[in-house]
Amino acid sequence: MINVHSYESMGTFDGPGLRLVVFLQGCPFRCLYCANPDTMEAKGGTPTPPEEILQMAISQKAFFGKKGGITFSGGEPTLQAEVLIPLFKDLKANGIHICLDTNGGIRNEKVEELLSLTDLVLLDLK
Ligand code: SF4
Repeated sequence: MINVHSYESMGTFDGPGLRLVVFLQGCPFRCLYCANPDTMEAKGGTPTPPEEILQMAISQKAFFGKKGGITFSGGEPTLQAEVLIPLFKDLKANGIHICLDTNGGIRNEKVEELLSLTDLVLLDLK
């Protein structure tokens, strides 16, 4: 299960084109200026089957056009790298462009693999 805070359909601020933005729950940072402070706590959010996110993206693919796709933001998506890896593989297999919005604070083997499956990293240094 992927712990989701919320979604934004047809987002225009989190990567190129029109995008499905998935805000994930949990972040190890505590930035005072955080725009989504209710995503910080690892607890909370909605445990969501990866298949549900995949189907949502496929159903919106026609609106993504040549530039758009799906963006994973938060919170800090790399906290959930292990469960995101198979979803990223399925998204790629369906031709959906993937952006990852990350603070770059977590580096391990799973995060490296997740990054290798990501089309565009939006690195937001804190
Ligand atoms: S890294 Fe991002 S999500 Fe995490 S607390 Fe800072 S601004 Fe908020």
